[in-house]
Amino acid sequence: MSTEPVTSIEMLKRLVAFDTTSRNSNLDLIKYIQSYLDDHGVKSTLVPNEEGTKANLFASIGPEAEGGIVLSGHTDVVPVDGQAWETDPWTLTEKPDGKLYGRGTCDMKGFIAVALAHVPKFQKARLKVPMHFAFSYDEEIGCLGAHSLAEKLVGAVPRPQTVIVGEPTMMSVVNAQNAGGGLNATFTGFEAHSSMTHLGVNAIHYAGEFIHWLNELQEELAQRKHPHLDTMPNHTTINVGIISGGTAGNILARECVLNWGYRTLPGDDNTEVQRRAEQYVKELLLPKMRAKHPDANIVIKRRSFVPGLLPQENEAAAKLALEWTGGNRTYAVPYGTEAGIFRSHGIPTVICGPGDISQAHQPNEFVAKSQMDSCDAFVGKLIKWAETH
Ligand SMILES: [Zn+2]
Repeated sequence: MSTEPVTSIEMLKRLVAFDTTSRNSNLDLIKYIQSYLDDHGVKSTLVPNEEGTKANLFASIGPEAEGGIVLSGHTDVVPVDGQAWETDPWTLTEKPDGKLYGRGTCDMKGFIAVALAHVPKFQKARLKVPMHFAFSYDEEIGCLGAHSLAEKLVGAVPRPQTVIVGEPTMMSVVNAQNAGGGLNATFTGFEAHSSMTHLGVNAIHYAGEFIHWLNELQEELAQRKHPHLDTMPNHTTINVGIISGGTAGNILARECVLNWGYRTLPGDDNTEVQRRAEQYVKELLLPKMRAKHPDANIVIKRRSFVPGLLPQENEAAAKLALEWTGGNRTYAVPYGTEAGIFRSHGIPTVICGPGDISQAHQPNEFVAKSQMDSCDAFVGKLIKWAETH
């Protein structure tokens, strides 16, 4: 590999070509980034998962000093399965409409590409504070990698002052986000012939009752709107994303698993939904199932949790980011990002990146070239700031 400088768009093209769907390993991409950094004389550290199949990457440029800025992003993307793509999702395709198409262009390889393309400039600059890169795995399936990455950040380097998580915000500065929890609810019934409903317990039917209850809870929670935040929607939300169970049309289903989750407004009690679900199951739903068969069971298990982000804890970080975007106000978002995890480790964190979140997870995902330009300009200002502070 050469050390020829590359543009952010050229770098994005390289990153998009790696299929880093969360179910796959991200190691090919991470190793590419590592060798790119190596070629530029930047040492990086990998923080692998337990199985060694995925890794976070951490790297620093500049003086070994406190007060650095962390540019952070997740390397995984959501699946393209079943989506109608007009172009190859793993080939960055520029169209005459000024948009760059490909999986992960907006969520969120665009930001990582800009960070990496600026490595030669970071090195040339007389940085007074360091720049750190923190790239994670498994964000899309519950921010799994970011926990160890945040620990690494807190433990191994002089304390940074701000983390910028480059999720797509159209380069607006976001300093508040919802908390989110991902859970499984596993219903175990008892099989019987479908003509003998009195002999068995149909797990799917009780899962259905649970979903109905979740809907009612959601309606109740929708009445509690947040007085200050302007997120849309402005209340806690619940979603059942996957339902699986049953073996045949003429058998009472023995098992049914719901993959569900909730998002809580920043500052709200983020344990409420799970707590109330557990209480409902224990006091009402499970006794009903067990009355039919003693072996029936319901287990609710948390898969993931992402803490929220509160504006007042991130004021200094937001001020800095606004200086670099030229914006005059901050925003709140209803989705969860790794920002909540970094913040919960005590580092002020804001979200700011190229592209529109409404593009994320969609077929024909794109990032506008103008957004990549804005992000280039943002990092340009950040470099100037880092030379003088
Ligand atoms: Zn994302």
